[in-house]
Amino acid sequence: MKKQRLIIVGAGPAGCSAAIYAARADLSPLMFEGFSSGPVGGQLMTTTDVQNFPGFPNGIQGPDLIGAMRQQAKRFGTEIVTEDVESVDLTKRPFLVNGSTNRVEVDSIIIATGATAKRLYVPGTRDGEFWQKGVTACAVCDGALPMFRNKKLYVVGGGDTAVEEAIFLTKYSETVYIVHRRNMLRASKIMSRHAMNHPKIEILWNHVLTRVEGDDVVTGVVLQNVETHQEIVKEAGGVFFAIGHTPNVHFLNGQLASDKDGYLIVKPGTTRSSVEGVFAAGDVQDKVYRQAVSAAGSGCMAALDAERFLMLQGS
Ligand code: NAP
Repeated sequence: MKKQRLIIVGAGPAGCSAAIYAARADLSPLMFEGFSSGPVGGQLMTTTDVQNFPGFPNGIQGPDLIGAMRQQAKRFGTEIVTEDVESVDLTKRPFLVNGSTNRVEVDSIIIATGATAKRLYVPGTRDGEFWQKGVTACAVCDGALPMFRNKKLYVVGGGDTAVEEAIFLTKYSETVYIVHRRNMLRASKIMSRHAMNHPKIEILWNHVLTRVEGDDVVTGVVLQNVETHQEIVKEAGGVFFAIGHTPNVHFLNGQLASDKDGYLIVKPGTTRSSVEGVFAAGDVQDKVYRQAVSAAGSGCMAALDAERFLMLQGS
């Protein structure tokens, strides 16, 4: 069986930063970049213009940023396998990592698997109904499809993602409606202002989506006012969920301590998980900041924590 000193699971900004630091520290990291819950490279792969990552005054496309990080990790000797980690055994050291084809014994692990967009499961949105036939959880991935062109599109949610996706969709559609369950956006002030002043965006306050209708594709939505309970039926060509994320921890099978939402718990100020030798970085352990730059920072911390752990173990 293959043996490693360090495995990094996940290849977003947290995983790539951990790989750069670990490779430069001669830990010869092996990075598993496949993860079926989301795109290889994480959420930045489905983001267009990243304007707030330091060092890029004119912005950079998400996939370009990830591509550069990945290249940098490889340059210092990170081995990358495009494969899902299906399970791990953290009950004894060395730990065991089971990929879809590789089984590896390893002294330390960095979990950087990120989080996946949540879905609503109201009638019409499920698999076999209109899911992926007009209902999706990623406007940036799917919004440019011909089926959404010049249609009335609905984004559900009130956070920065909802606003960002609504603005993105205005490139293709005649009107974008943001359906929000409250009377105030959760999004940052600047993003909220963009949405409220945008000529192609209308915000439907205090409304929830109760049903999606259609024939082969989506043709309408049913929305309910949460105060009056009155339902309205509206013509629609697409529905995009932007209601937050779920951390990708399924393969851990509960072996690491997590909070009530499934986010991994780390010792404050470190990336140390509840199992010695296992570290967590990026969105899988962060439901507060969730930024590419904070994920990258915690990836660096995880590599330094792992390096110190391995040194103390004499590994
Ligand atoms: P979020 O901030 O958690 O917002 C989720 C939104 O969905 C909230 O408005 C919430 O409503 C709504 N929601 C949740 N469950 C719902 C349900 N079952 N039915 C209807 N609505 C529901 O998530 P996010 O927008 O994905 O943002 C996550 C983090 O990434 C945030 O920290 C955000 O600032 C950051 N982000 C930043 C940028 C940027 O800087 N460019 C872009 C995207 C995201 P309530 O408001 O009522 O809770």
